[in-house]
Amino acid sequence: MKRTITVITLISLLAVSLAHAESRNPIRNEIYAMDTVISLSIYGTNASSATEDIEGEVMRLENLLSVTDPNSQISQINAADDSVEITSEINNLLKDSLLYSIATNGALDITIAPVVQAWGFTEEAHSIPDDDKLQELLACVGTDHVLLSDTHVTLLDQAQIDLGAIAKGYTTDRIAQIMDNNGIDSGLISIGGNAYVHNCKPDGSPWRIALIDPQNTDGYAGVLSLANAFAVTSGGYQRYFERDGMRFHHIIDPSTGYPAQSGLLSVTIITGRGQSGDAYGWDGAMCDALSTALYVMGEERAIEFWRESEFRFDFVLITEDGRMLISSGIEEYFDPDETAGYDYEVVR
Ligand code: AMP
Ligand code: MG
Repeated sequence: MKRTITVITLISLLAVSLAHAESRNPIRNEIYAMDTVISLSIYGTNASSATEDIEGEVMRLENLLSVTDPNSQISQINAADDSVEITSEINNLLKDSLLYSIATNGALDITIAPVVQAWGFTEEAHSIPDDDKLQELLACVGTDHVLLSDTHVTLLDQAQIDLGAIAKGYTTDRIAQIMDNNGIDSGLISIGGNAYVHNCKPDGSPWRIALIDPQNTDGYAGVLSLANAFAVTSGGYQRYFERDGMRFHHIIDPSTGYPAQSGLLSVTIITGRGQSGDAYGWDGAMCDALSTALYVMGEERAIEFWRESEFRFDFVLITEDGRMLISSGIEEYFDPDETAGYDYEVVR
């Protein structure tokens, strides 16, 4: 009897110390999915099960949302001539995407898909479409080509959709939920330009997220100190091709069909998790949608949008003429890197 108790005590001591070790030492992992490297750092007793859940969720979402996988739900919607039955998850995503389009006056538009395809960004087979072709494709761009009900979606006039501007942000929202479900103490996830930090670092200090300098992508423009927050960057430097000395990047201005030339090199959108409003969540999907949209808008419209819209967020804008503009809400959480050489301004 006594021996059994000792063994049990030993086993439980071992379990406690393993759990303790696991909560101090992160599970670190890199997954290649969604056309990018996803890196995870997770601390807490359930770090390994959370990591497994996250990997499974990333794969599920990739299979659901990819435009290049013919079996994804998005590809099925794009291929159909008629209405397609959709899950409530797809319904919510489409509904949010349409709302962001309307709110940003079309700067974000998921029906931009045929234009993105014509530039060869969908399959990474780049080419410069001629202007007539672009004008023809733009005729089927616009949210009025998407008929959405609770259970079905119909695309009119050969319209196509691409959730590339919002899918990674949505994925970080799902991952944040998985971290909650697993009682994770602390964690960091980065999917391409989309970061989510869960609580603080294990030592109680904020996570530090470095923003890539778009003019020198081996260096940093500054560092954000954040806890329980999303930070998403869109920039022409992230995906582009060059022809005859010109650079063509992947963020398309839906009003022209050409890569946005808005005077911005990168846009980072930051929001605290859980500052939920009524119509929208202040979440990763919002940051992803808005980073793309504000990149298209350019400095002036972006600042006006920040001042006037119902969305609550902060920004870091880096301009072609060498300035770095941050919104006043993150002033104390951002350290610009002076060696990057940008003139620094706080927008109020
Ligand atoms: P992001 O990296 O989040 O800024 O999203 C860029 C991706 O979204 C591109 O690779 C395209 O697939 C797609 N895209 C490009 N321009 C737009 C736009 N104006 N609205 C919506 N999606 C876009
Ligand atoms: Mg985006």
